[in-house]
Amino acid sequence: MEARGSARTTVGRVRAPETIVCVDCGGTCHLLAHPETEFDPGDPVAYRCADCVDRWDLVMPDDEDDGQGAEVSGVV
Ligand SMILES: [Zn+2]
Repeated sequence: MEARGSARTTVGRVRAPETIVCVDCGGTCHLLAHPETEFDPGDPVAYRCADCVDRWDLVMPDDEDDGQGAEVSGVV
């Protein structure tokens, strides 16, 4: 049996990029939330394209366990 979920109360929070490239028109989509907002992995993040005014919702990627200690997270 696996005890999944018990250790996931505080995962590393991530900041979304302020802009992304619109997959529709190639324009610039701007983050609708405040740039300093921190998201949990799996959270939806909304963007609005400046060119075609389309709205895009990204989902923050799950925590990346690649073994590299490049980012300090977890201990605040
Ligand atoms: Zn667009």
